[in-house]
Amino acid sequence: MIPFKSKLPNVGTTIFTVMSALAEQHKAINLSQGFPNFDTPEGLKNLVSHYMNKGMNQYAPMAGLPILRGRLAEKIEKLYGASVNPTTEITITAGGTQGLFTAIAAFVHEGDEVILIEPAYDSYAPSVELCGGKVIPYRLEYPNYEIDWAIFEQLITPKTRMIIINTPHNPTGKTLKDSDLRNLEKITEGSEILILSDEVYEHLIFDGQAHASVLRYPNLFKRSIASYSFGKTFHATGWKMGYVVAPDYLMAEFRKVHQFNVFSVNTPVQYAIADFLEDENNYLCLPNFYQNKRDYFLKLMESSRFKPLKSEGTYFQLFDYQDISPDNDFDFSKRLTTELGVAVIPVSVFYTNNVDAKVIRVCFAKTEDILVAAAERLCGI
Ligand code: PMP
Ligand code: GLN
Repeated sequence: MIPFKSKLPNVGTTIFTVMSALAEQHKAINLSQGFPNFDTPEGLKNLVSHYMNKGMNQYAPMAGLPILRGRLAEKIEKLYGASVNPTTEITITAGGTQGLFTAIAAFVHEGDEVILIEPAYDSYAPSVELCGGKVIPYRLEYPNYEIDWAIFEQLITPKTRMIIINTPHNPTGKTLKDSDLRNLEKITEGSEILILSDEVYEHLIFDGQAHASVLRYPNLFKRSIASYSFGKTFHATGWKMGYVVAPDYLMAEFRKVHQFNVFSVNTPVQYAIADFLEDENNYLCLPNFYQNKRDYFLKLMESSRFKPLKSEGTYFQLFDYQDISPDNDFDFSKRLTTELGVAVIPVSVFYTNNVDAKVIRVCFAKTEDILVAAAERLCGI
């Protein structure tokens, strides 16, 4: 063996791979890793085949197809009232993860501090560490998982380079409100802090709420990079397609890295999505579609001993199992998978110090038959 020094000595395999593999091994219903068990819309698949067959199979422009970026600028204007330049302020990425990684790689230097809000999506911390940055966690607490901005502000130091936010939030299903964004604006005013806003679940938001995008707040947007995923919006997580929006001076720097990170992304899918975005119903239907799934699943779970912490967005729902077992959430999730046949995610893995509030995350992006079968098993405990 050739010796080498790991850049990520404390990182193992992501929980999503671990739990999906365990689910497969035990033939469990997989409510762990977040992905729909239903297909991407027929119309969108047909468009991809159409453009593939038409020969649109070579490199797209580095920042993405102009037609797609144009459609996205129209959608952003309509939804968030922000006027972004499609030529200089939008880049098409190979999914949300690449957008986030490239943004961190472009702006985080050795020794920079990056504030993460935990429980945090699992790609943020390793990406920061790979770039020599230092993770500074702000810990949301069970059961409300709300930010106390006076305490949050105390984490800011002269070394703070970036704050990463995520709304709607994975894994809690909480959303940031207008007051949160205004507080963020206030505490960063006059500073050189950048905001990386992970908005991959922008359309998965319930109960009539408006998505609190950084794009709605001009004073925040001027220091922000926002990342999105077509995987969530079009039930196509396996396509790994998304986009990033940032003011031109930040986007120019982002593209310096993007061009050598992926250069450009899937051409026929970009053409297809550009066409599909023409009909706004293709994304405006999503809050209702997923809210119905959340409500359906919560109804099925009413007679169980699991206590729901109602999801406000994403396709995840948290359940507290304090009345069921004293086990830690990792062991409990493993037992649910191997003994009961329902795979779930333990929330402690999203904290750097593994805070265990005895809470699990389930993904309800599933057809009714799967939700019924899973709920039946979970209600049996
Ligand atoms: N951010 C969050 C919060 C996510 O849940 C995901 C999930 N998949 C991503 C980013 C990554 O998105 P993608 O699959 O498009 O890379
Ligand atoms: N975002 C998905 C989740 O939270 C999974 C992404 C992945 O498997 N890397 O479950």
